[in-house]
Amino acid sequence: MALRTGKLLINNEWYEAQSGKYFDVINPATEEKLGSVAEADAADVNAAVKAARRAFEEGPWKTMSARERGRILHRIAMLIDKHKEELAELETLNNGKPINETLGADLPLTIECFEYYAGLADKIHGETIPVNGNFLNYTLREPAGVVAQIIPWNFPLLMAAWKLGPALATGCTVVLKPAEQTPFTALRLGELLLEAGLPQGVVNILPGFGPTAGAALAMHPDVDKVAFTGSTEVGKLIMGMAAKSNLKRVSLELGGKAPNVVFADADLDAAVAGTLRGIFFNQGEVCCAGSRLFVEESVRDSFLEKLKKEAESLVVGDPLDRKTQMGAQVSDEQFQKILGYIEKGKAEGAKVLAGGERARDKGYFIKPTVFDCPSDDLTIIKEEIFGPVVSALSFKDMDDLKARANKTIYGLSAGVWSRDIGKAHRLARDIKAGTVWVNCYNCFDAASPFGGYKQSGFGRELGEYALELYTQVKSVWVSLD
Ligand code: ADP
Repeated sequence: MALRTGKLLINNEWYEAQSGKYFDVINPATEEKLGSVAEADAADVNAAVKAARRAFEEGPWKTMSARERGRILHRIAMLIDKHKEELAELETLNNGKPINETLGADLPLTIECFEYYAGLADKIHGETIPVNGNFLNYTLREPAGVVAQIIPWNFPLLMAAWKLGPALATGCTVVLKPAEQTPFTALRLGELLLEAGLPQGVVNILPGFGPTAGAALAMHPDVDKVAFTGSTEVGKLIMGMAAKSNLKRVSLELGGKAPNVVFADADLDAAVAGTLRGIFFNQGEVCCAGSRLFVEESVRDSFLEKLKKEAESLVVGDPLDRKTQMGAQVSDEQFQKILGYIEKGKAEGAKVLAGGERARDKGYFIKPTVFDCPSDDLTIIKEEIFGPVVSALSFKDMDDLKARANKTIYGLSAGVWSRDIGKAHRLARDIKAGTVWVNCYNCFDAASPFGGYKQSGFGRELGEYALELYTQVKSVWVSLD
């Protein structure tokens, strides 16, 4: 296969990095080079922020009618749809995820995200507020300005859509930094943005590394807002950099360690299927993965027996093969990290029920792994693994469960499986997490908000909530005297 190359998109032109540097991008299923991409650093960040600032202050983007912005967003959605097979294959080659998932989840969700914000663009408005005295008081919702968006490698194209959709609908301009492991679909998206007629400088795309390009964006004094999705550790750095530079606004979507709770009264076959989907979807490289499995004591043995059998029957293999259910982990670093957690689990006394080792000789493949854990204190229960590893625990009753499910620094999501509607809703209220799935798992829709409690971050992406991230509210007072 021919090697690919990628450049930087600044002011609607493709450039090499000012340093002239390129970095290699790997296909994680083969460990071979997929191509190379221009490596942005602080100098390129300055140029891109300048272009975004000019586009924000002078360009037609902010001043064109919101309906026209919506039309451009619609064109973006249509162009992605037109090229969805090509984009799905590129995503699979670069990330290692199965083609069935890129075609069945990543691409449709990406297209719907742009469609949703296309429709929302002309429905963003302020309010009139009844105030004391003889005044007309109203609010304006104005775009936040120049926005830096730093995204991860687990859903490269979809995360770009979650970020760009609401930012563009509100009239912001953007500098987007894809993750260094997976820049290719964002760059292809850049070509489609130009084809859709996005004005000069509205979206700039800079592949590059975190501590250089990413940090330069978070530190930049002329960036008004930074939106970040990634690890909690880096999220804290981003917030620090935002504080130290210019107090730019921050929204963070960070790690997770979701409890997935199975009550004895659940439809247990559906709960097994949902548990598998909850942890093995996208090779477990999902911040909302159901990685802590709590099973009610009375059904524990039979549930884990079924889960083990199903986990062992999942097809791990060539991500481009339609039959494949689990592909490769994104990188050698991630692969080693996950294998390290698996060894730690074994060393701390967890019992391997399924998997527990690499799969295949080449490529970063790991077998779907199920651990039976003797206590809540194991490292694999506390820390985010970001891989295909589920750690099972059992619980006695609701009181026992509630405290333990919330015993985590994270709060992104949770799953609840029960036929008792009242109990499921009560638990949904008691769990400190931004999303709770009842009798389902990993459901997403552009209209439904997503984000974290606690150290899973703050701010809600998707839905109308995401407009808050990218707008400022101005209160205007008019004397009627
Ligand atoms: P992971 O550990 O899963 O790779 P990261 O949080 O490190 O996730 O990466 C998510 C995104 O954050 C990537 O685009 C990465 O380049 C970027 N990033 C990493 N470190 C920094 C940093 N110090 N400053 C800004 N961005 C960073």
